Amino acid sequence: MIPYGRQEITEADIAAVQDVLRSDFITQGQAVPDFEFALAKTCKAKFAVATSSATAALHLSCLALGVKTDDWVWTSPNTFAASANCALYCGAQIDFVDIDERTYNLCALKLEEKLIAAEKNNCLPKVLIVVHFSGQPCDLKAVRALSLKYGFKVVEDASHAVGAQYDGEPIGACIYSDITVFSFHPVKIITTGEGGAVLTNDASVARRIELLRSHGITRDSAELEANAPQPWHYEQQHLGYNYRMTDIQAALGISQLGRLPGYISKRHEIAQRYELALAGQDLLTPWQHPTGHSSYHLFVIRIPGPATGDRRNRIGRALRSAGIQVNLHYIPVHLHPFYKQLGFKLGAFPAAEQYYSQALSLPMYPTLTTREQDSVVEHLTNEMNR
Ligand SMILES: *Cc1c(COP(=O)(O)O)cnc(C)c1O
Repeated sequence: MIPYGRQEITEADIAAVQDVLRSDFITQGQAVPDFEFALAKTCKAKFAVATSSATAALHLSCLALGVKTDDWVWTSPNTFAASANCALYCGAQIDFVDIDERTYNLCALKLEEKLIAAEKNNCLPKVLIVVHFSGQPCDLKAVRALSLKYGFKVVEDASHAVGAQYDGEPIGACIYSDITVFSFHPVKIITTGEGGAVLTNDASVARRIELLRSHGITRDSAELEANAPQPWHYEQQHLGYNYRMTDIQAALGISQLGRLPGYISKRHEIAQRYELALAGQDLLTPWQHPTGHSSYHLFVIRIPGPATGDRRNRIGRALRSAGIQVNLHYIPVHLHPFYKQLGFKLGAFPAAEQYYSQALSLPMYPTLTTREQDSVVEHLTNEMNR
C-alpha cells in the first residue's frame, strides 16, 4: 500500500523521545520551551507557543485576537474543517472567500470585492484565516494591504506550509500577518504525533496564548493579584483550556525540525519527477506562484471532466484498488452537512466547487521511493487513457 502522506521516524527521533521518557519531566519540562525556541529561530518569529494540535492553536489564536459572539471570521472553503470550526468555538459567525483557480488559495481579488460589500452592510470580518494550501503560500502582501485598509487581523493557517517561504522569508515570520499556525500531525511536513504551534511577533498575543493553553493559570509574580504570595500560589485569571504539548512530543519535534530543509528539497524532487512523468497527459499539475517556495505538503493534480466528478472518481477508485491511497483535498467546507445546516448552499463558492470535482492528491512524502512513484505514474496514466 502506498499512502498519500506519511511520517518518517529515525533512530535519532526514537533516542530523543527515550531521553525524555527517562528524565524527570515528561510534560511541562524543558523540551517544550526548547522546541519553541528552535521553531521561532527557524521561522524568524519572535515567539512560538507549542500546542496539542493545530486545531487548538487556531482556537487560541481566535481567542487571543478577541473573536467573540457575533464577530465575523472569514476563511477559504478549500481547507480542512478546523480552519473554520475555530471561529464557531468562539461563538463567532463564519463565512468563506472563494479560491484562485491557479493556486487553489483564497483569492485576494474576491476578498476585496467581499470586503467592499461587507463594509456597506456593516459586517466586516474581525479575523481572516488564510490557508497556504498544499504548502504554497497565498498572496500575503495583497491580504496585508486589505487588512490594513479594512481593519481585520490575519491568521495564517500554515498547517501545510512548515518550511515554505514567501518572498524569500520563512512562513512563520509573520511579516504580513498577526499569527501563523502550524500542524505537526503525522501526514504534515514534520511531526510530533499530534501537535501544533502558534508563531507571532506580538508579545502580548504570545503571552495570552500561553495562558489560555494552560487553563488561564499564571504563577508569574508580576501577573499575580496577590501580594507577597506563597511559593505554591497560582491564580486562574482567564477561562483557558488544557491545550499543552508534552515534552515527549516536543523532543520528537526538535529532532524532526533538524531534517526540515532536507524534507523540503526531497519533496521538491518528487514534485519535479511527477511534473516530468505527467507532462503531455490531459491533466493539470500544481501551478507555482513565483513569489513563493512551496513545502509541497500535497501534490494535487486536476483531471478535467464533468462537474459530477465522475471521471476523476473512476480514476481515483481504480488507483485505490491498486493499493495507491490517493486522496481528495478538500471537500469544500461549506458543503459538509454541518455547514449546510448553517445555511451554506451548493453554488456559493463556484471555484472551490469546480476544483473539488477535478482534484486528486497523489502520494507525496520524503520516503516515497522512485519505484513507488513510477508505479503511481504508471497506474494513473493507464487509467487516464482507458
Ligand atoms: C491538518 C490541518 C489542520 C488541523 O491540524 P491538527 O494538528 O490535526 O489539529 C488545520 N488546518 C489545515 C489546513 C490542516 O491541513
